[in-house]
Amino acid sequence: MGTKTQGLSTRCIHAGEGRDAHGSPHTPIYTTTTFAFPSTAALLDVVEGRAAGSLYTRYGFNPTIQHLEVKLAALENAEAALAFGSGIGAESALFLAHGQRGIICLGDAYGGTMELLADQLPKLGIRTALLLGRETARLDALLADGYGLVFLETPTNPVLEIFDIAAIAQTVHAHGALLAVDSTFASPVNQQPLGLGADLVVHSATKYLGGHSDLTAGALMGSKDLIAPVFGWRKNLGTAPAPETCALLARSLRTLVVRVRQQNTSAQRIAEVLVRHPRIRRVLYPGLPDFPGHRVAASQMSGFGGMLTIEVDGDATAAAAVADRLRLFAIAPSLGGVESLATQPVTTTHHGLSEDERDRRGITGGMIRLSVGLEDTDDLVADLEQALA
Ligand SMILES: *Cc1c(COP(=O)(O)O)cnc(C)c1O
Repeated sequence: MGTKTQGLSTRCIHAGEGRDAHGSPHTPIYTTTTFAFPSTAALLDVVEGRAAGSLYTRYGFNPTIQHLEVKLAALENAEAALAFGSGIGAESALFLAHGQRGIICLGDAYGGTMELLADQLPKLGIRTALLLGRETARLDALLADGYGLVFLETPTNPVLEIFDIAAIAQTVHAHGALLAVDSTFASPVNQQPLGLGADLVVHSATKYLGGHSDLTAGALMGSKDLIAPVFGWRKNLGTAPAPETCALLARSLRTLVVRVRQQNTSAQRIAEVLVRHPRIRRVLYPGLPDFPGHRVAASQMSGFGGMLTIEVDGDATAAAAVADRLRLFAIAPSLGGVESLATQPVTTTHHGLSEDERDRRGITGGMIRLSVGLEDTDDLVADLEQALA
């Protein structure tokens, strides 16, 4: 079993794993939906929380799910973790469990998250406030008005805006509120929000944690006290992950560190090449010294990530022409996998927004977001250069 004092790679491999009766080094897939008990008293011990055990898979009480959750908690040095059937499943349960006093979203967020916060949760009577990064100063007044949860992504999609987690945590805690960070773009390899003062961390495990574009899952990590109320929402929203997915995710997590470090290295090199390219107007990447968020990123991240956004010299049609000429990068709206992907925010993630709203958030037609995979860096650079030629 992995422990807190071990390095992240060791925890990724060993946390939550234990030899089973046959000597399997990894937890098998228990496709089982319900589990039998030797006695009513033993069943009650699990139902009433006195003993950990398997009971019913939708509750998450299945060894394949529970062992994965030990590994997920270890990734963020958290006391507890819950696995979900998707990243948005994790966020829905988080908002319902901890958002009663109101939710402030700071900066841009994933499309589905925005739909929940702007439209769906307010219809249930949950008040939400959506602030741009440059409106961070309004946080104090809103918190004074009693909002109980602040949610942010860092780095954000697609402009890679960086928020100072430690500084924001201080403001949030001064008002007795909670800070939840969607750390999907960074992954636990590059950023550890709980160590910086955040209360909860959420991941779309569909991205770097899964890493192969072959599974959909989510994760929420935090203290036992803060995770406990989320459990009931996951149970009754029915968003626990399938055991098959959990085994696949545990398999992927064993190589998380080497994957992400290589993606960091490749993305940095691509950013440095493209920033000098005559057909590129801007490269948004936290690892570039003159990127606005670079200083904060360098202080709170141990790597700058595999995501960058380039802005070609031209409009959405010009950017589409470049994307269409890419051969290795596939045109697809996800990220974090072994294969490199390219997507235009205006055609996918931010397609539904008005022109004005895109302007407000700094999203332009010429932008192409790149998710750098694990192909040879030289091949990726060559692909981008031929597409831009
Ligand atoms: C993809 C994504 C989500 C949603 O995750 P799903 O697994 O698709 O539900 C949430 N936040 C971020 C930053 C994402 O990239």
